[in-house]
Formats: sequence, C-alpha cells, structure tokens
Amino acid sequence: MITRRTLLLGTASGLSVLALAGCTTPEPEPTPSVTGTPTPTLVPQPLTMRRTNWAGDAFARGSFSFAAVGATPEHRAALREPVADRVFFAGEATAISEPGTVQGARESGLRAAAEVEAIADQSERIAVIGAGMAGLSAARLLVDAGYDVIVIEARDRTGGRIDTVTDADWPFPIELGPSFIRSSATTDLDEQLTVLGAASLEFTTEAEVRTRAGTVVAVDPVGAEAVADALVWAADQARDVSLERAIVDSGNGTLSTTVGDTGVSPADWLDYDLATGLKVTTGAGPGEVSAWYAPGAPATSDTSTDANTDATEDAPAVPRLVIGGYRSLLDDLATDIDVVTSNVVTLVAYDDDGVSLRLGAGESLSVDRVVVTIPLGVLQDEALEFSPALPFAHRGAIAALGMGVLDKVWLRFDEAFWSTDAPLWTIVGGDPDFAVWVNLLPLTGEPVLMGVVAAENADRLSQFSDDDFLVAALSALEPFLAAP
Ligand SMILES: Cc1cc2nc3c(=O)[nH]c(=O)nc-3n(C[C@H](O)[C@H](O)[C@H](O)COP(=O)(O)OP(=O)(O)OC[C@H]3O[C@@H](n4cnc5c(N)ncnc54)[C@H](O)[C@@H]3O)c2cc1C
Repeated sequence: MITRRTLLLGTASGLSVLALAGCTTPEPEPTPSVTGTPTPTLVPQPLTMRRTNWAGDAFARGSFSFAAVGATPEHRAALREPVADRVFFAGEATAISEPGTVQGARESGLRAAAEVEAIADQSERIAVIGAGMAGLSAARLLVDAGYDVIVIEARDRTGGRIDTVTDADWPFPIELGPSFIRSSATTDLDEQLTVLGAASLEFTTEAEVRTRAGTVVAVDPVGAEAVADALVWAADQARDVSLERAIVDSGNGTLSTTVGDTGVSPADWLDYDLATGLKVTTGAGPGEVSAWYAPGAPATSDTSTDANTDATEDAPAVPRLVIGGYRSLLDDLATDIDVVTSNVVTLVAYDDDGVSLRLGAGESLSVDRVVVTIPLGVLQDEALEFSPALPFAHRGAIAALGMGVLDKVWLRFDEAFWSTDAPLWTIVGGDPDFAVWVNLLPLTGEPVLMGVVAAENADRLSQFSDDDFLVAALSALEPFLAAP
C-alpha cells in the first residue's frame, strides 16, 4: 500500500460558520453529515468559505480527463473522430495536445469547427452542445465563418468548468474551476486576458513545504526519484500498468518509513510527490493512472504531442495565475452568439439527412450538424443518448479514458493567521486532504487562501457536510499557524 492515511476528521456539528456558500452542483445531491469526534483546530474561522464538488456536478462528473491504465492517446483520437459527417466531437478530453486544460479545450473546439467548415455548406444550421471553452470556441469560429449557429447549454450560465464567482463575499473574482494557465509556451490565453482587462500573474512552482508540526523543510527528492524511476521501468514493459504497480514492481515501493530529524521519512516524500504532483494534475490516484502516460512519463516517439496530461513536455517553467476573472474569455467568445441556457440535451439522433436533438423539456430541434462538447464524465454517465449508438471505437474510448477529480476550497479571513509570504504552500507527512494551498495575500493584499483536494481524498470529502469540510480544510492549515 503506497499511500498511508491519517484520518483527521470528524463531525463539527457545533460549528456555526459565517457565510458558508454551497458547492457548484446545480442540482446538488444530498451531502450526508459525517459522524465522529470533532477535531479541534487552532486555525481561526474564516469569514467566508466556498467549496466545490465537481464529481457531484451532473454536467461535469469530474474535473478533467486523465490517462487511466490501458488508455492511450489513440483513445482521444478515436473520441474526436466525426461520426457520419454529422456528429463532431470537441472538449478537453478530445484535445490533440494538452488535454485536461483550458487551452486543450479551446484547441479542440477550433479543430472540430474546422472539420465542420471543411464539409458544410454555408447555408447549414449547426448546433453546438455545451457553452464551455470548447463549445464557445467552436461556435465563435463557425459564426465568424457565416454559419447559422445555436449553442445549447444545460446550466443557467455559460463557461462550463470555467466558473468565476464575482460577488460581495470576495474582494476579487475567485475561480471554482481553473485558476491557472497551465500552458505550453505557445498559448496566448494570458495575452487575451490582459486585453480583456483580466489580470494573470506569473506564479511560482517553488512551494514552501511544511511538516504537520509546522517545520519548514527542503524537499527531499527521494520521492520524485522513486516515481521517475518507476516510470522509466514501466516504459520498458510489455503492457501498461498503474503507476502504483510500477512503483512496487520496479522496487521503489519499499522506501523507509523511519523519520529523520525533521520528522519526515523517505516514504512520506513519496506520498508527498504523489499528492502534490500526480493527484493534483490528474485528479486520480497512483492506482488509477497509466504508468505509460502519467505526467512525467518518458515520451514515446509516437505520442510526443498526444499524450494525456500528459503532454507536460512543453509545459512552461512558470504557470500563470488568473486573478481577474477567467470567464471574461468566455464572455468575449460568446458575443453575439445565440446561446440557449438551462436546456439539457438528452438525445442526439442522426442520419444522412441531418441531426435531431431532443431537449430535456421534450422539445426537439433539427440541425444539419452538431458539435458535441459535453465532458467525458457526462459521456461515461450515459446522460446523453446517441441514436444510432456511437461506433464501437467511440464507446471504447469513453470507457477507457479516466475522469479525475480536483476540488477547491476558498477561504477569506478577517486577517492573516500566517506569517509566511510564500504564495504556494504544501504539506508533507500524514496525508493531509488539502496538500496544496495558494496564499493570495502576497498577490492581492487580501487574506484569502485557496486549497485543493484531489483524487480519493476529494471523493471522500465530497460526502462531507460544509461544516465537516471546513474542519478538514482548517486542520490541513495548522502547519501554517504563525507562532504565538
Ligand atoms: C477544479 C478545476 C480546476 C482546474 N484547473 C485548471 C487549471 O488550473 N488550468 C487549466 O488549464 N485547466 C484546469 N481545469 C480544467 C479546465 O477547466 C477544463 O479542461 C476546461 O474548462 C474544459 O472545457 P470544455 O469546454 O471541454 O468542457 P466544459 O467547460 O465542461 O463545457 C462543457 C459544457 O457542456 C455542458 N453540458 C453538459 N451536459 C450537457 C447536456 N446534456 N446538454 C447541454 N449541455 C451540457 C456543461 O454544462 C458545460 O457547460 C480545471 C478544472 C477544474 C474542475
């Protein structure tokens, strides 16, 4: 067993947290309260909390796609293959490069729109299902090319997984979905945001690392080296295995659990690398992720541009943090586009003559072609029916690829309880649920923190009530309490 768990949490039914806002799920499923003993925390209560539950969101069913064991870039290629020249696919899971990102979604939308443009007459009516980055990018290109385009969106807003909150609870726009431009060197998303008046800042990849006891420590590379070694070993195997299996079978799973002077063991550093690297970038645990296509896996010659996350080869040294509102990109794209919100598409029926869409309310809509951008998790959920059924290659791809989970918590405090100026915090030891934090104070002047919880930790916390979720977040922050 690679990951060891310290169960820190219990119920906090007595907590009356001030302005607790709900999760992002439009139709939230009941979140049962977890029972147990409250864990006291010395971290002050925040003024405001906002949490997400992307797996519970019926129109996302997860945060971003990843390469599950056995999945290959060919699955993404199969998923983006047009069907009968009527049904076209876009969305981050179909991206040729940088799947799982905003720019991957944009690229996929532009690619699908170009495919439509290559065969559609100018007089045709095109529907786009989904008003996220992929859908609006496709629609923008098609509208500008002169097509009659209608975008149908299930939510009551555009943006999809890009979900910027701008309200009185927060001193600046907060992002419930992506915050970073996790881009290749070639993206111009940051420049577009600047033109739109939405700031993004260079963000450090150097974290201040603390033990659970609050000691600042330097990263011991032993964990990252074990993972890298396992990936090299896996690349030479005859078949794909999980990263967890690769770590064990390559002989890297037996790191010592004996703690050193700082109270951290080599095994803790392995857990740290998986928690702050793999889980945050894929939303999945080492038992689920392909060792052939995990982040950092040696690129194989036939997958250099197409690997899931995968494609971290040309990732920039410095990511950018968006603090001025990611959704301004979507608002700009949607200008003068016919977007019908609060309409769930339940059936895509297609034949040689065209496409008929059935909407949740029972109406139907006839178009010549459709671009489907709904997330992989929703496709896996079979919430959208295709008639005739999608070809086997598409169904195989939908089943093979994975949908990871990354959730966020935003906390606004009256004043900072921490004394470090570091913008990026991580925790080693004890499997904290929130292993990574962004300190917005040095970036915005506001005592606001953003924490992330991923993979199985996110699955477990998604079942927590808001009070219990907050206790988990505050417990994870204890290492950053300023000394009295
Ligand atoms: C918490 C989190 C953090 C992230 N962090 C980053 C980051 O820092 N950097 C980065 O680049 N990427 C990040 N991502 C990933 C990024 O947000 C996505 O890759 C990208 O936004 C996906 O865009 P899309 O258009 O493919 O899908 P979506 O934005 O999900 O759009 C699909 C649309 O389809 C709609 N839809 C679903 N079902 C139906 C239906 N039946 N009928 C009609 N409409 C339907 C949905 O409501 C949605 O609007 C993050 C994602 C999450 C959740």
